[in-house]
Amino acid sequence: MIPVTALWSADRIEDAAKVLRSGELVAFPTETVYGLGGDATNDLAVARIFEAKGRPRFNPLITHVPDLTAARDLAVFDARAERVAREFWPGPLSLVLPRAPNSPVSLLASAGLDTLAIRMPAHPLALALLRATGRPLAAPSANRSGRLSPTSAGDVMAELGGRIAAVLDGGRSAVGIESTVLDLSGAEPRVLRPGGVATEALEKLLGHVAAAGAPSEAPRSPGMLASHYAPERPLRLEARDARPGEALLAFGLGPAPKGFREVRWLSRSGDLMEAAANLFAALRALDRPEVAGIAVMPIPERGLGVAINDRLRRAAAPRLS
Ligand code: AMP
Ligand code: MG
Repeated sequence: MIPVTALWSADRIEDAAKVLRSGELVAFPTETVYGLGGDATNDLAVARIFEAKGRPRFNPLITHVPDLTAARDLAVFDARAERVAREFWPGPLSLVLPRAPNSPVSLLASAGLDTLAIRMPAHPLALALLRATGRPLAAPSANRSGRLSPTSAGDVMAELGGRIAAVLDGGRSAVGIESTVLDLSGAEPRVLRPGGVATEALEKLLGHVAAAGAPSEAPRSPGMLASHYAPERPLRLEARDARPGEALLAFGLGPAPKGFREVRWLSRSGDLMEAAANLFAALRALDRPEVAGIAVMPIPERGLGVAINDRLRRAAAPRLS
């Protein structure tokens, strides 16, 4: 636990960058709301974001970059994505794009999905921090789960004081509403969340843009259908013994039960933060044709265990297709 959260002004950007590179969290101003920033390439830093917010679920986070060049290292930009990024960045528009083949962004930041939400914020302090850190920053709104998004450093202190390393004070956020989330990972552009950039403005560049939940006019590309990551192999929870051909996702202090064809540890010390950090990479590593099923040891229902179990239960539920 971090007992005291530092309140830093703009002249402490280098300190903030150092803290971020070490995997700790720093809240910073953007033109929409204050973001809770962590190194998007560090699984543990991203797990800390979920822990600090007290989120009961792993939903995908927006990754922030200082420029379009940095964004191209993380995700695949097609001609449409290039066009909207050139027009609306920096600004309140997040693009959902396919992950680049060697994207360094944590799988936890995208909740295991094959896509990434990326944006370049229009705030001088945010951009300076991103440049100084030299890493993309995952940054959801800097409030505890279920509460209002903060638009001042004081708001952030009230929400997250004692839970994060520092807050960079950049005065009041100008827009106050969140970024528009535009999905360009499929054939048809789709607004997943309305925000600071109007759909009409996007349509001037892209033609028809669908709204979230509207029936699709075009098929989505293969592998992009699921809105939540789930392994292809069946998942069995609360496992205490092996069934033929199963691999084990292990957790806790004791020895793993015997008889599994393969064992992956979420955390050997029973650390829920470490388990969250490893969750999606471990699931993907075990989700192979020669594995008959994935058994998961019991995970305690507290702290980040709530979000881990929520994800595992959804992944274990029967599929519709
Ligand atoms: P926040 O970071 O709290 O501003 O919220 C991020 C928003 O972007 C949420 O509405 C997410 O569901 C959405 N989002 C982020 N990444 C993805 C993705 N890969 N696919 C779909 N939606 C995403
Ligand atoms: Mg929020």
